[in-house]
Amino acid sequence: MEPIQFELGDRLRLRKQHPCGCFDWEVVRLGADIGLRCEKCGRRILLPRSEVERRIKQKLPRLPKPEDEYDPYES
Ligand SMILES: [Zn+2]
Repeated sequence: MEPIQFELGDRLRLRKQHPCGCFDWEVVRLGADIGLRCEKCGRRILLPRSEVERRIKQKLPRLPKPEDEYDPYES
């Protein structure tokens, strides 16, 4: 299996459900641990990269958001 490349703003659907009932997460931090924000309740969690790769079900299309300040394709 290929390693998965994550970028800030990527949206992921995980096999693991957040207690609020949502499966969809947005990548908000990169590093040895991946920071994820629940798309429903907005709560942030940190998961080891290997854990995220194991739990990922699919990558979702990115949505442009007005509050998104980070844009790798600009500047
Ligand atoms: Zn949640």
